[in-house]
Amino acid sequence: MRRSRFAPLLLALGLVLLAGPARAFCLFQCNAAKTKYPIVLAHGLAGFDELFGVFEYFFGIPSELRGKGATVFVTQVSAFQSTAARGEQLIDQIETIAAITGKPKVNLIGHSHGGLDVRYVASVRPDLVASVTTVASPHQGAELADFLRANVQNGSFTEDLLAFFANSLGTVLGLLSGTTNPQDAILALDALTSTGLAAFNAQHPQGVPTTACGQGASVVNGIRYYSWSGTGVLTNVFDVSDPALGLTSLFYSEANDGLVGRCSSHLGSVIRDNYFQNHLDEVNQILGLVSIFESNPKTLFRNHANRLKNAGL
Ligand code: CA
Repeated sequence: MRRSRFAPLLLALGLVLLAGPARAFCLFQCNAAKTKYPIVLAHGLAGFDELFGVFEYFFGIPSELRGKGATVFVTQVSAFQSTAARGEQLIDQIETIAAITGKPKVNLIGHSHGGLDVRYVASVRPDLVASVTTVASPHQGAELADFLRANVQNGSFTEDLLAFFANSLGTVLGLLSGTTNPQDAILALDALTSTGLAAFNAQHPQGVPTTACGQGASVVNGIRYYSWSGTGVLTNVFDVSDPALGLTSLFYSEANDGLVGRCSSHLGSVIRDNYFQNHLDEVNQILGLVSIFESNPKTLFRNHANRLKNAGL
């Protein structure tokens, strides 16, 4: 496929715009998040744009990190694609970030499917990566994806199933697939099923636990691996997304955040796997509506940047 010669230029411009203002006002601990290598945030669930319009995926998190001295980039990959395809898009963007910043490596942090994308990058281009952190990524698959995939027949959803989801879980189907096009939905779903993840893990085993619900290797080929996740579902009565996650959580046999199980989220060093946060709370959505009885997601990202800094990354 031939790419426009302007594509790299447009990509660079887009990344600079996404990088945003370098520094917010700060009074104390102003360099707490000032890592050696840039922090790259990789989004997860497809269809997010449609659900949240122009709102940033990692709500308020880039500015929080920049306020404490971090250099932060937010990447953008295709919504409806395999992890490998999304990972290749990510590699293009990381190469551009390396060129812009003059830093040879980046600290990758991915939420949900984004955590699988960053694992792919670290596996095939370890030279670009200082650390991999996944937030609520389904490393062993997502049980809801298994259920949906099992109910897809001959490449198309049955009318009954479509009607069922349109009535009850339509929002979440949109979150998973971002589309009502069955082929797109299948592509997106396959990347998140337990079968899909078993194949992915066989090809890209770095940091994946080798025991049930255990931790993974904390360092592989010089790259640090970390993960965290939540097991809250109904966390804020004002957040309209909570009931949908409450419904999807019923598909799971283990504690979960509404879309990803506690043990499935484990990768490398497990920082914590049971924050009182649901799958959207983890990226401070919707619009900062999270539990007031739990550490704020912005704080968790800021603390992690400090952890990376202290590790010399
Ligand atoms: Ca929320």
